[in-house]
Amino acid sequence: MYYICAVLTLLSLDIGATSYNYTKMWTYDDERTWPGRKCKEGGRRQSPIDIRTDDIIHDYNGVVIRYGTLTFTGYRGVLMTGINNGLTVQFSTDGDTAIHPILSGGPLQHRYRLEQLHFHWLSEHAVNGRKFPMEIHFVHVRTDLTVEQALKQKDGLAIIAMFGNVQAVLNEDQEDRISEIMEVIPRLLHTGDRISGVLLNLMKLMSPNTEQYYTYFGSLTSPECNEVVIWIIFENPITISDAQYRLFGKIGESRHNFRSLQPVMHHLVYKPRPASVWNTPYLVTAIHDFVDRVAQFFRNVTRFVKKEMIKP
Ligand SMILES: [Zn+2]
Repeated sequence: MYYICAVLTLLSLDIGATSYNYTKMWTYDDERTWPGRKCKEGGRRQSPIDIRTDDIIHDYNGVVIRYGTLTFTGYRGVLMTGINNGLTVQFSTDGDTAIHPILSGGPLQHRYRLEQLHFHWLSEHAVNGRKFPMEIHFVHVRTDLTVEQALKQKDGLAIIAMFGNVQAVLNEDQEDRISEIMEVIPRLLHTGDRISGVLLNLMKLMSPNTEQYYTYFGSLTSPECNEVVIWIIFENPITISDAQYRLFGKIGESRHNFRSLQPVMHHLVYKPRPASVWNTPYLVTAIHDFVDRVAQFFRNVTRFVKKEMIKP
């Protein structure tokens, strides 16, 4: 089944097809036909990837995660329009951009405005080779750029990924987190279905622990696979019920909607330093002392070697 893609369907509804001359068709069933050179030939940092937790860099020195805690502003009452675009169910932010939710901090040097969220089943990213039944993407664009500009900047977009697990029956907390959005999904099962004026508390869909995440520089996982995304992937999944998950099987006309895993090349995956270290000045001091002593040792060795070498 083929789809006419209205310019990065997965990114925004408000960009006309004319702005990108993007009228080719693509499907999840055959990625070889995707438009965009990066999609076909690959690149240096394509997404999604399999995250190997043994290879993750704990960012003790704030190399990448250097802007404090991840901060969510205005996510508790968001007016959205839900649409079934034939590939997924997507909820886009409504109204004046000045009131849209803003993401900042963590690895983000800039502020990012939420454009839309959408669902993938199965997950796109994997952790230690394991896929999750679902992955929700919250797509944000740098507030100081237009979408068109953001699609050309290394850090133009910030996407939060939230994994979803499935279990037979939900407890009260799990039900509370997912119920608001799941009430709308049954009304979006057919391509072209659309509902405006949906008010959502998006913090309910976020991990309760927003300080535990993986982050790396990657790409869009749909055409044209632009390498412009700062990925922020929460470690802890949300949970939905079997019955809720079965609804997603009725959405879209493809058997699945995830891009295949891409080879890990220039990707470095970082993780914030553990909260216990933030809160334990002694430990921080001890680590810094240790690093300083090692550095001092090597400076001394270098001096000694240089001295030895210039001896007659
Ligand atoms: Zn996505």
